[in-house]
Amino acid sequence: MDFHDSPAEAAFRTEVRDFIAREYRSDGDGDIADARGAAHAATQGGPAAMQRYQAWMKKLAAKGWVAPAWPQEYGGAGMTIMEQFVFNEEMAKARAPRPGGIGVGFAGPTIIVYGAGEQKTEHLPGILSGDAVWCQGFSEPGSGSDLASLQTSAVKDGDDYIVNGQKIWTSGAQYAQRMILLARTDPAAPKHKGISYFLLDMKSPGVSVRPLVNMAGTPMFNEVFFDNVRVPRKDLLGEENRGWYVAATTLDFERSSIGSSIAQGQQVEDLVLWVKDRRGEVQPTIRCELAERAIEAETARLLSYRVISMQNRGLVPNHEAAAVKLYAAELNQRVANTAIKLAGLYGQLEGDRNAGAGSAINRYAPNKGRFARAYLGAVASTIAGGTSEVNRNIIATRGLGLPRD
Ligand SMILES: Cc1cc2nc3c(=O)[nH]c(=O)nc-3n(C[C@H](O)[C@H](O)[C@H](O)COP(=O)(O)OP(=O)(O)OC[C@H]3O[C@@H](n4cnc5c(N)ncnc54)[C@H](O)[C@@H]3O)c2cc1C
Repeated sequence: MDFHDSPAEAAFRTEVRDFIAREYRSDGDGDIADARGAAHAATQGGPAAMQRYQAWMKKLAAKGWVAPAWPQEYGGAGMTIMEQFVFNEEMAKARAPRPGGIGVGFAGPTIIVYGAGEQKTEHLPGILSGDAVWCQGFSEPGSGSDLASLQTSAVKDGDDYIVNGQKIWTSGAQYAQRMILLARTDPAAPKHKGISYFLLDMKSPGVSVRPLVNMAGTPMFNEVFFDNVRVPRKDLLGEENRGWYVAATTLDFERSSIGSSIAQGQQVEDLVLWVKDRRGEVQPTIRCELAERAIEAETARLLSYRVISMQNRGLVPNHEAAAVKLYAAELNQRVANTAIKLAGLYGQLEGDRNAGAGSAINRYAPNKGRFARAYLGAVASTIAGGTSEVNRNIIATRGLGLPRD
């Protein structure tokens, strides 16, 4: 593939770069740089981080860039695949948070594909303005990789459905106004054919949310319980019992969202700078490990270029996207591991983000405690959005043509 920008792409890159330089003021701490959506910013850095994220999204919205991939007729930027890539790359280089999250990233695009006119009018403006935060109620205690086995039920009652059951690992549900919800409407049908897809109002009576604190100490996700929750028929997306196919579209958007592999390269660069500042304090053998991470970050970048180049030619990446997800998720853990090794025993200290830099608790926490937090947080990367084993199965069967059993 040709790695150079076309003249039009180069001009667009300059426009994005100038806009960020003019409009984005980093908090200097970068705690929202990786945030995907307001709820994610809040779980990373608290309500103040959520406000900073939303203020930046308002500036992007004024420029028409809050939904880069959406068609212009729905208020999106209508960027081509390459423009989205350039946009993400420049945002990542500047460490400015990119727009995204469940609303912009995949609830909105699914509503654009399957929604009735009134559903589009009701939901898309709130997603674009950043006022409506969405969460994704797909996984259940017994249904993750095998999502179609889900048991939450929705029973028809006049013009409504009555929902009972439980979801789990629902990221950002404690901040969300709406949920994309999968529930079983026909228990007698084969498992893929009895599911429906709803746009649930989180304020409905009978919905309760219980935050789950992950091992990094962050209330990242939640359990959500439904106790006779009444959902009006107008909030059914697509046809009854065809929700599995609507969900497949959502999952396609979730997997194919053009991420930037630049962030991992930056993490490695940060580590190199950190080591240079501490010459003599770290073991010289760590050089080789850092070099390996730098090569792997470059490999991840090239793998993701392959997926983007396929999308740009109108192809749908499948095992290629699985390879990128698998490699990047495992690299994420290796980079975090290297950082902890570099910092030695101090690497385990998380510090306190609410205390000053000079405070006793933060003086010894290397890189403001980011190494420890990244190490704990990276564990989830090989589970969320498809586990490594499931991705290996996809590469084996669809990529290498190996038999299923
Ligand atoms: C940080 C984070 C955020 C998340 N946010 C959300 C969210 O917002 N909304 C939501 O709905 N869900 C969310 N999830 C849930 C996520 O989608 C599931 O955790 C994931 O799909 C795996 O399902 P599971 O946890 O039930 O594990 P299981 O599917 O039970 O898997 C357990 C183990 O078995 C392996 N395994 C399963 N099937 C196979 C197979 N066929 N072949 C080989 N090995 C297999 C898996 O790889 C894994 O190691 C989130 C998860 C995480 C970690």
